Amino acid sequence: MIDFNKPTLVGNECEYISHAFDNSHVSGDGEFSKKCHTILEETLGVPRALLTTNCTHALEMTALLLDIQPGDEVIVPSFTFVSTVNAFVLRGARPVFSDIRPDTLNIDENHLESLITPRTRAIVVVHYAGVGCEMDSILAIAARHGIPVVEDNAHGLFGRYKGRYLGTFGSLATQSFHETKNMSCGEGGAILINDPALVDRAEIIREKGTNRSRFFRGMVDKYTWVDAGSSYLLSDILAAVLYAQLEKRDEIQSKRQHVWEYYDAQLRDWTVAHGIQAPSVPEYCQQSYHMYYLLLPDLETRSALIKYLKQRQIISVFHYLPLHLSDMGRKYGYSEGACPVTERVSDQLVRLPFHNSLSDADQDQVVAALKSFMQSRA
Ligand SMILES: *Cc1c(COP(=O)(O)O)cnc(C)c1O
Repeated sequence: MIDFNKPTLVGNECEYISHAFDNSHVSGDGEFSKKCHTILEETLGVPRALLTTNCTHALEMTALLLDIQPGDEVIVPSFTFVSTVNAFVLRGARPVFSDIRPDTLNIDENHLESLITPRTRAIVVVHYAGVGCEMDSILAIAARHGIPVVEDNAHGLFGRYKGRYLGTFGSLATQSFHETKNMSCGEGGAILINDPALVDRAEIIREKGTNRSRFFRGMVDKYTWVDAGSSYLLSDILAAVLYAQLEKRDEIQSKRQHVWEYYDAQLRDWTVAHGIQAPSVPEYCQQSYHMYYLLLPDLETRSALIKYLKQRQIISVFHYLPLHLSDMGRKYGYSEGACPVTERVSDQLVRLPFHNSLSDADQDQVVAALKSFMQSRA
């Protein structure tokens, strides 16, 4: 069986878990959480990084930090994971769905200006597959209208756009350490705070609305309830696992680069000959090697391929269903044709097995099965 994803131990995960117990500190913000914060802050060069229970909660924190209110509008791609938009809908915001670019499948910056209204309070971008969105244009449009940008960077940790790390462009950015992501602790996330004016409040919101973080740093002599908040801290047991993975980030990223390039070397010319679209990575984007996907000619071909691979013990998956055509999307008045590229890509896209312990031999099998499938239909 060739799994689509497989969580992999890469280093000192188990040792660090027992170390967290030796510390007698397994709740949030212990030794390993602090080590993860430091790695993220120093490597990415962000003013503050805070681990969260998951990326969904980090996104919810961004909505709280931006004071999203009922009736506010938030521009989001329709082609994304549901949490990207739910975080804002929970505050009463109305999602304004943008279509994506047909090449990178990132939010189409050419549509942004036409989606902005006096009620727009945030532009949320997703660096799909860890390939950077067109940040120069997006930041220029956002600045012209005074609208903050949030990066859902769940796919893109350590990817870059024009040399600069993804997650460092928006006022706020979010990361995921779910088991399907490049580096993982099962369930986990982080919020990156690039706007220094939001750092104090981020710490407060994450600590149940208290100034506990300042208290622990000795900046106040007692801590108290100062704002609305919730509990978004990651257990130090999970932070221990994450730290072991972050320590090995170069190893993980080069392994994933190998997996991506091995697929690409064997498939790129073949895709061209068969009317299949392979991933598009602009030369100024250093991707994070999160996934390898193909866009097949149509839905029928994709369904048949997934079935064909499954019969050969190879698990491939598709995503995302267009959010604007979901039950919730329709409640906001959306219908077919609103985001045509999203609608087409959602039918065509298949993700190939991709994880940190995938072998060349496994990939050879996947490639052979893909080729024999297309041959069988010629
Ligand atoms: C995985 C993912 C999330 C959610 O991450 P969790 O850590 O599972 O909450 C959000 N957005 C995108 C684009 C994702 O891929």
